[in-house]
Amino acid sequence: MPKYIFVTGGVVSSVGKGIVTASLGRILKSRGHRVSILKLDPYINVDPGTMSPYQHGEVYVTDDGAETDLDLGHYERFLDDNLTRANSTSTGQVYEEVIRMERRGDFLGGTIQPIPHITNEIKRRIRSAQQALDADIVLVEVGGTVGDMEGQPFLEAISQMRHALEPHDTMSIHVTLLPYIGATKELKTKPTQHSVRELRTFGIQPDVIVARSDFPVGQSLREKISLFCNVDTEAVIALETADSIYEVPLYLEAAGLSQIVARQLELPVAEADLEDWRGFVQRLREPSATARIALVGKYVELHDAYLSIKEALIHAGVHHGAKLDLRWVHSEDLESRPPEEVIGDVDGILLCPGFGDRGLEGKIAAVRYAREGLIPYLGDCLGLQMMVCEFARNVAGMPGANTTEADPRTPFPVISLLSEQRGVDELGGTMRLGGYDCRLVEGTRAAEAYGASNVRERHRHRYEVNNALLPVLQEHGLVASGWSPDGRLVEICELRDHPWMVGAQFHPEFTSRPNRPNPLFRDFIGAALERAGSAAATGAVASA
Ligand code: GLN
Repeated sequence: MPKYIFVTGGVVSSVGKGIVTASLGRILKSRGHRVSILKLDPYINVDPGTMSPYQHGEVYVTDDGAETDLDLGHYERFLDDNLTRANSTSTGQVYEEVIRMERRGDFLGGTIQPIPHITNEIKRRIRSAQQALDADIVLVEVGGTVGDMEGQPFLEAISQMRHALEPHDTMSIHVTLLPYIGATKELKTKPTQHSVRELRTFGIQPDVIVARSDFPVGQSLREKISLFCNVDTEAVIALETADSIYEVPLYLEAAGLSQIVARQLELPVAEADLEDWRGFVQRLREPSATARIALVGKYVELHDAYLSIKEALIHAGVHHGAKLDLRWVHSEDLESRPPEEVIGDVDGILLCPGFGDRGLEGKIAAVRYAREGLIPYLGDCLGLQMMVCEFARNVAGMPGANTTEADPRTPFPVISLLSEQRGVDELGGTMRLGGYDCRLVEGTRAAEAYGASNVRERHRHRYEVNNALLPVLQEHGLVASGWSPDGRLVEICELRDHPWMVGAQFHPEFTSRPNRPNPLFRDFIGAALERAGSAAATGAVASA
């Protein structure tokens, strides 16, 4: 009988519920369980694919092509498993399905209502997340905060499930924030008490409270929360803000969370084997070198927009025993200021993915600076496309070369739509999405990085390298080093006469894991460190 752990949030959102859920998943997997994690997102959008990064942060893409919440990235990185579209559900998807059934006549004669029709569909999806991974433990995280109007059907469905299951097959974990009052220098528990009360209005009594805080939480506060919320003191877990999210599983294990879960769910006695994870965190804490990396994008004030890229860089840095000094660079800054002023002292340049034409010329300036200055460069999706445009314009004699996304009338459309995509005018769900195989060309940097001839990486884009103009680019030294198995689509490009300049049409960040960095990220950082090292050796390192 599978076990279900429901994770809800109280007081405010963004307190790290996703990290707590992912961390518990990791710990339970380390005890030998098969774990699946489901994110329930209360918004009415069908998926976050069409939401602004300002609203939502990054869109995480699963191997089976679902556009999902960034928490799915945490789940995959912490669990080290590939999740599926069954691991992410929104209110929009639930209603879409119920309305489809109603139109089909499945409920003929009935009035469609939140209870039971919507809650039944939610429960069906919770069970699908179990089946997708044949899990013996399913963690279900409800997005947002208890009390949000749009989250109510999810809590109602959870309450029904808890009622139907045996007490030892389910538990509830509530993650809250203890606000700090500067004037009196104290942490307050009242908002936690209120949110537990709100949760109880759905018939859900939490078994564990994870109290997040930026300051140490004393025993007496835990006792107070215990008393007011009817939770054992040992099950009130104080989680202070950690230096790194990767420390959280170790912290929760030390705080006894897996023992509490094991007791309540009557799990067999087992030790959590977190040695590998501990080693990663140890290396993360003790770097022996530094590389300065510029991330060029258009949402740089919002690091969540490039979350998986940031994490993939951390994995690659830890692999090399290095700390990365990340410089977030707005591509529009490179349109008004010379690159040497903005990114003159970096050891590597990563060009982020993106849509639309804002800041594209700044991106091209960054590519040119990397190519001419022999600075290691990783182009991520749009970063590959801009690398090809820059090369076409400034090396291959194609002035005005561009992607037709930005300039439909460019004389040299080196990046364009596939013929079968022309005429598609819906924006939702019309992209090349998810994992595709890629054949690597022997003797290239890409093949060297992966150490394989066939790899699988995840895509999210519409435009492609235009094969009609590719021969001219190749004559001038651009190497197409990765291809779709049918030989029709260029997936990776690189430059021969450069220390390390590689662009991928896919998003390599989605397959990077702690202790298993994505090979392109790993070798990009390796090249950047080499540059940093030789600059230091020749005394050429910038004072910054
Ligand atoms: N806008 C480009 C395309 O649709 C690149 C997308 C991306 O960087 N993810 O092809």
